[in-house]
Amino acid sequence: MEDPRRRTPRTDAVLADPRVEAAARRLGRGRTKAVVVDVLDACRRGEVAPEDVVEATLAALPASSASLRPVVNATGVVVHTNLGRAPLSAAAIEALTTAAGPTDVELDLATGRRGARGAAALAALAAAVPGAEGVHVVNNGAAALALVTCALAQGSPAQRSDGPGREVVVARGEMVEIGDGFRIPDLLESVGARLREVGTTNRVRLADYEAAVGEDTAFVLKVHPSNFRVEGFTSSVAVEELAGLGAPLVVDIGSGLLAPHPRLPDEPDAATCLAAGADLVTASGDKLLGGPQCGLLLGRGELVHRLRRHPFARALRVDKLTLAALEATLTGPTPPVAEALARRPEELMARARRLALALGRDAEAVASEGAVGGGGAPGVVLPSAAVALPSRLAEPLRTGATPVVGRVHEGRLLLDLLAVPDDLDELLTEVVRRALADAARQGRTA
Ligand SMILES: *Cc1c(COP(=O)(O)O)cnc(C)c1O
Repeated sequence: MEDPRRRTPRTDAVLADPRVEAAARRLGRGRTKAVVVDVLDACRRGEVAPEDVVEATLAALPASSASLRPVVNATGVVVHTNLGRAPLSAAAIEALTTAAGPTDVELDLATGRRGARGAAALAALAAAVPGAEGVHVVNNGAAALALVTCALAQGSPAQRSDGPGREVVVARGEMVEIGDGFRIPDLLESVGARLREVGTTNRVRLADYEAAVGEDTAFVLKVHPSNFRVEGFTSSVAVEELAGLGAPLVVDIGSGLLAPHPRLPDEPDAATCLAAGADLVTASGDKLLGGPQCGLLLGRGELVHRLRRHPFARALRVDKLTLAALEATLTGPTPPVAEALARRPEELMARARRLALALGRDAEAVASEGAVGGGGAPGVVLPSAAVALPSRLAEPLRTGATPVVGRVHEGRLLLDLLAVPDDLDELLTEVVRRALADAARQGRTA
């Protein structure tokens, strides 16, 4: 038999194949060449036939240059931290694709002069919250809080050289860990504030704040405990009452609801907090607002102006992609997060039944319980429906060509439809049908 090493094609010859050349234009020559080299090694070992080298190369090339893959979120958690929080609306995706090229983000095309960066996105935010005199956008919720603290609690440069900055008065029960080990009190201290803790873990009264507020107070901070709930013997102080303390009041609402949401009555929103007397509200853009990752700052005009002009603001500046996606989220059609929150359990059950019917005897439509997730509405149950499947499908569905992430509950895999857009039902049926067929085939050969 002929030695396959002698017939192994040359690297250049494989790279010159029109289909491989096209892939190299899309994925980059370095990455493509590395795959070709691996395939040719396999060819020399006799594992790939010389005439199959091009096919094997094309099969081994990744689908795109970035490794992030689109995933079907069948977890029942609307804002899933590990799945990138809020999925963007089609309008926001289109806006960021447009903004990816050269764009007039800082150019007034009418006059040819420099324009105000992100003016349209900021105007859209201001229009969505008429009670805010000023608005500003930074990289994320933590950056919004850091900027406020830098600008208000760091003190003057002279004070800084003498020691730590001014005090931020905050309730002990609101010293929140956001996730992945990040703690709001640590964040405040890291930019030079001193914390003045008031109350106990479960209770704080207006008198506690009154006793703590003084000359050295930079601001009073109210933080929404967005990912846990304290029940039983508890008390906290409302925004209205804190607003009368005489110190600036900053409210970190977390989730980015701009106005009250009927299904989330306990979730604070920007408009209500400002109307109740907050001087500044900070929030994330990629939680309940349903937009890109960013941090929102809304409130008194003079304060927002100071934040915007602070030197540190430049280090927290958002890019043009974020500005474009945020504007489209605010002005365009209902974003996926709001759509998910509007889905009724009956409608979800009807979808689950249709899917289960199409999938056969291994699938059953069941009622389930969804959640907001991702730092919002802790403890709120969103009644939902799911397709229950054998739990052994969890891994193949998660690792397949179109990854589907569900949750295993009482020994079954639930594909919860709450956060699945309706137009994905057909794709979901197809993917699950294939996984069931593969599992059956493996069952027979095992
Ligand atoms: C999520 C959250 C933050 C942090 O926002 P990021 O956008 O993740 O930086 C801060 N405070 C609260 C109350 C939150 O829920």
